[in-house]
Amino acid sequence: MTQTFEIAIIGAGMAGLSAATALSEAGHRVVLFDKSRGSGGRMSTKRTDSGDLDMGAQYFTARDSHFRQALQGWLDRGWVAEWSPRLFIRNEDELLESPDDQQRYVGSPRMTSLSRGLLENLEFISQTRITGLQHTDDERWELQDDTGASHGPFDRVVVATPAPQAVPLLGAAAHLEQAAAQVQMQPGWTLALGFAEPLDTAVEACFVRVGALDWISRNSSKPGRQGLDTWVLQSNPRWAMGNLETEKSQVCRELSTAFAEVLNIDLPKPAFELAHRWLYARSEGNCNWGALAAPEKGLYVCGDWCLGGRLENAWISGQQAAQTLLERK
Ligand SMILES: Cc1cc2nc3c(=O)[nH]c(=O)nc-3n(C[C@H](O)[C@H](O)[C@H](O)COP(=O)(O)OP(=O)(O)OC[C@H]3O[C@@H](n4cnc5c(N)ncnc54)[C@H](O)[C@@H]3O)c2cc1C
Repeated sequence: MTQTFEIAIIGAGMAGLSAATALSEAGHRVVLFDKSRGSGGRMSTKRTDSGDLDMGAQYFTARDSHFRQALQGWLDRGWVAEWSPRLFIRNEDELLESPDDQQRYVGSPRMTSLSRGLLENLEFISQTRITGLQHTDDERWELQDDTGASHGPFDRVVVATPAPQAVPLLGAAAHLEQAAAQVQMQPGWTLALGFAEPLDTAVEACFVRVGALDWISRNSSKPGRQGLDTWVLQSNPRWAMGNLETEKSQVCRELSTAFAEVLNIDLPKPAFELAHRWLYARSEGNCNWGALAAPEKGLYVCGDWCLGGRLENAWISGQQAAQTLLERK
């Protein structure tokens, strides 16, 4: 008879959700924990009266054949849609339209529609920050949260948080702890702006090679978005590093100025603005670990940082953690 495990997954971003769906489909009881109110992690959407704003991942691409297969299921369910923005590049001298043949996808009608969809039928304990994992005498796991409450026991644990947040949870397996500790993650600032009158520009997305910004997207050009003419601007990591403690009002001013320079327009006063700081936006460099494991302890680790900071990689890493766990049953 096949053994059924109780499995805790810490982190309900794309990696944790990917592992959770694979393990649940294999017949195990999975419980997802996240410190935030909702799921999705860095694939996040801020819901406002001015529209739903994708503050984290802007879109994703699909290169891996297994990921493309999963994507087809999400498209069929209407959780995601294609997004084909008018794409530009801003360099030192000019703003150039730069069409490419890269197909981009977004959650529809908001980025978190995908995480909501994946969470369907899964057990989710939100607003619960796990602070410790205790390996018990009978080879199971108890989880402690920051209120001192205990959760478990579980037969297996999958840690699916950004590397710096995984380190304090991996003390039971020194090689996992060391691997996570060597990963550096870069910060980022995101600024969302909403305008009552649409800005007079053809730009719907722009890779920025100059100044404080890295990326601009016309959030309202994504499928299914309603509300104002909304824009999401992302700083480059260097600028964010130098402005980690800068007041939000100042960040709004500086990134708005950079935005106007990129588009080469006079920016009207926005009807809405919102700045968000990411301490751990993306990993520096790409590891090629897939996922990490201490199978003898029943402890597994996944996350985009195990492969490189993209949504697709987070999904692949989650699948690999689940696969390793299932093979080692
Ligand atoms: C601003 C920004 C823009 C991006 N743009 C793109 C893009 O356009 N395309 C793309 O492919 N990728 C993009 N990315 C990267 C993409 O968002 C990530 O690769 C992906 O979302 C990472 O998923 P994950 O599951 O590995 O981690 P996360 O999404 O970070 O999920 C980890 C989860 O763990 C939770 N957590 C952490 N510690 C604990 C704890 N102790 N207890 C409980 N829960 C905990 C967190 O709350 C979080 O929900 C972007 C990222 C950022 C920040």
